[in-house]
Amino acid sequence: MYPQVELHIAGKWRGAASGETMDIINPATGDAIGALPVATIADLDEALEAAGKGFATWRAIGAFDRYKIMRKAAELLRERAETIAAIMTTEQGKPLAEALMETRGAADTIDWFAEEARRAYGRIVPARASDVMQMVIKEPVGPVAAFTPWNFPINQAVRKVSGALAAGCSVVLKGPEDTPGSCAELIKAFNDAGVPDNVLNLVFGNPAQISEYLIPHPVIRKISFTGSTAIGKQLAALAGAHMKRVTMELGGHAPSIVFKDANLEKALKVLSANKYRNAGQVCVSPTRFLVHESVFDKFVDEFVTISKNLNVGDGHDPKTSMGPLAHSRRIDAMESFVADAEAKGAELRTGGKRIGNRGYFFEPTVFTNLPMDSRIMNEEPFGPIAAIQKFSDDEEAFAEANRLPYGLAAYAYTESGTTARALAERVESGMISINHHGIALPETPFGGVKDSGYGSEGGLEAIEAYLNTKFVTKSGL
Ligand code: NAD
Repeated sequence: MYPQVELHIAGKWRGAASGETMDIINPATGDAIGALPVATIADLDEALEAAGKGFATWRAIGAFDRYKIMRKAAELLRERAETIAAIMTTEQGKPLAEALMETRGAADTIDWFAEEARRAYGRIVPARASDVMQMVIKEPVGPVAAFTPWNFPINQAVRKVSGALAAGCSVVLKGPEDTPGSCAELIKAFNDAGVPDNVLNLVFGNPAQISEYLIPHPVIRKISFTGSTAIGKQLAALAGAHMKRVTMELGGHAPSIVFKDANLEKALKVLSANKYRNAGQVCVSPTRFLVHESVFDKFVDEFVTISKNLNVGDGHDPKTSMGPLAHSRRIDAMESFVADAEAKGAELRTGGKRIGNRGYFFEPTVFTNLPMDSRIMNEEPFGPIAAIQKFSDDEEAFAEANRLPYGLAAYAYTESGTTARALAERVESGMISINHHGIALPETPFGGVKDSGYGSEGGLEAIEAYLNTKFVTKSGL
């Protein structure tokens, strides 16, 4: 059963002031499964007023009590994981096992932020004069406007909401219109755990209208956005014009380098699984495969075999290993990447087509010998297309890894400690995972450099994003 999804404003679940709705679509069938309220400016005004009040309430609650409420929310999420995962699969398409992992992982994220906020220590700086005390204290930055996308409807939201709540901030979250139900369940878990009314507000609607209204609004002190680089640049510019603090988690095009001394079996297994996870709609998905010429043919042959053997189907079917794309826009994008690559003379090794005409299924697709000006070599595919290129000299691989303006994730397989060290030092990315897939844990930094954005959504840095640093100095007291 798919739930009735509503806005959550000032502690109430309700429709939009105008009564306007948009369809929610099941990507496995293309059928409408619900009607999502479209927030109006009047709804946003109420959410902003609530966030202002909620900030005063929530920051006054000590870190220890905030921790207890958040830990309860994590427990509720664990208890409800199966129901929530089913909602996610219905609206987003990913296999149920992936949806379950995402929901349970979100509970771990809440726990981590809740615990870490109790350690948002300040410090005492030794003073030059004997009667002076110099203190550095941390304060919540204020009400947060957060914007999260449809590829991980819970995970993208929980990182922002947990960081903000842990620090003592209130939130207006614009959730993903394509996949709103599971995101709303996350907010319900926080409310049921005791987050007071006004602190956590959830809206859906026209993304451009909402961001243009929320970002400049004087109540909002911090912006956090996950989505494409193009939109991120627009929102960062708007935030800059209003001097708002910003975290930007944007697109990537992860170089995935397989050196001649790699453990090929492991590289194939881990890279292919992560390439097709969530049908490739992952900002840290391995996407530009750079494989040494000595192992290239074997790597490609086996990658193609793995791709052909994937079970593409409805995420609710336990046999499914890859679900549909999340919406029809991704089908259009895949078809256009394929047409461009073929027109430019790339070699299509498998896939390349939409499957059927019901739902948004697309074949796992592998290209080799791509001209450097093909779009797939330059733009984030965000779908089940793997681009596999050959290199002969390691320097070529380093140069290709750093060629694009993106700098989010990178992967490499090598048995050489010297090469691993060179990778760590020379690859221009916010994260690099060598000989395994170890990215996106709550306790480790998560974020990009260059056009992939700035700020972090994991580790100590993620809490800092929601804290101001204040210096207090006093004399003679
Ligand atoms: P899109 O760029 O229009 O939207 C991406 C996300 O940004 C959506 O959640 C959308 O609601 C939001 N958005 C769009 N315009 C906005 C605005 N003016 N203000 C606030 N939010 C806005 O495209 P799409 O078709 O939804 O997704 C396509 C591209 O988005 C992908 O190719 C990928 O690069 C990127 N994307 C990235 C992530 C990520 O995890 N970094 C997630 C989803 C999509």
